Amino acid sequence: MIIRLPRNEKLFFIFVLILGSFLLFASLSIFIWPVKVLKKQDITIIVDAGHGGKDPGSSYNGFQEKDINLEVAFYLQEILQDEGLKVVMTRTEDIMFNNNRQDDLKRRIDIANSSDAALLVSIHVNKFPSPKPFGGEVYYFTGSEQGKQLAQKIQENLLKLQKNSYRSIKEGNFYLLKKSKIPGVIVEIGFISNPKDRERLKSESSKREIARAVAQGIKDYLVLDVPVTVQDQQVSVYPEYSKIDLMGGLLPLFYICQEGSGDLKRHDIKVDYLKMLQDTPAASFVEKKIELALLVYREGDLAGIAPLPENANYDFSLRDGDLHLFFELDAKYFFSSSLMELLALQALKKTFLSLPGVNRLIIYLDERPVNTISGHLFID
Ligand SMILES: [Zn+2]
Repeated sequence: MIIRLPRNEKLFFIFVLILGSFLLFASLSIFIWPVKVLKKQDITIIVDAGHGGKDPGSSYNGFQEKDINLEVAFYLQEILQDEGLKVVMTRTEDIMFNNNRQDDLKRRIDIANSSDAALLVSIHVNKFPSPKPFGGEVYYFTGSEQGKQLAQKIQENLLKLQKNSYRSIKEGNFYLLKKSKIPGVIVEIGFISNPKDRERLKSESSKREIARAVAQGIKDYLVLDVPVTVQDQQVSVYPEYSKIDLMGGLLPLFYICQEGSGDLKRHDIKVDYLKMLQDTPAASFVEKKIELALLVYREGDLAGIAPLPENANYDFSLRDGDLHLFFELDAKYFFSSSLMELLALQALKKTFLSLPGVNRLIIYLDERPVNTISGHLFID
């Protein structure tokens, strides 16, 4: 018995040792596991509140997009930080960097590219000439698979907030997304031009709800664990349209669908109409077609929405296949929403590039060539 006691103690000691090792191992694994989970804290999200300062974005009776964007961006920051994610805000005040749109956009892009953020979410408010379209809608850069997946996840969550919304994700050559090296989306959280959406955009609780949906979309996307790589910048933006034979007697004009669904409609004008323009100085047949197209867009006998502002001043010249289209600066306010800019440019491209002898469309604001009109899209 006396001899066995130390053996028991020995066994007890071994037992303690095994238990101790087990506990140590268990505590280590408990310790190691949170480290893996904590990786979430290494994920940085760029939250970009669109517009600011002298650029109000879209507006309705003094209710301005820039203010709504910033508020929702703050809510989004708070929610994401509560989830353990890092957030970098591109602006936290009502400012435009250097009071210059290009400098301001460049600064936002620099912030995105100098961080090792996982993704960028730009908050905007949509506008449409008719009050009908409503609902959140997410845009991604053409050809970006990651951008598309992120857009889809956020869209799914936005649709849950508005059961009768039919809006869907759209691709486009968005300036900010093109220049950012990380996947990104533009989230148009609703239409300031729609009465119901406008009420939602005025309500604190609805804005929080929208921010929560965007945050959920981001989290759903991150779970997909899509590897982050530099975006392919060499994608073609619009499909090639076959040249339409204008000697066939029709001038096809593309315009924006009244419902704001994101579709384009086509309106054919009979060439007979050209006789009315015989006294105009335009020299060539194609130039007459361009002039006619601009006239119809401007004077607006289209059943839908022309892709150009009504009664605005714009001019053109056609040289070596390049169609130079000149806008007065006011035009940028017409294009103050992503949707309008996207659809208008698609309509203009479809209309003018379908004319024989027109190979490129170059847009000028106040006689300066621009690669963006309102800062949403990048024009090649
Ligand atoms: Zn905007």
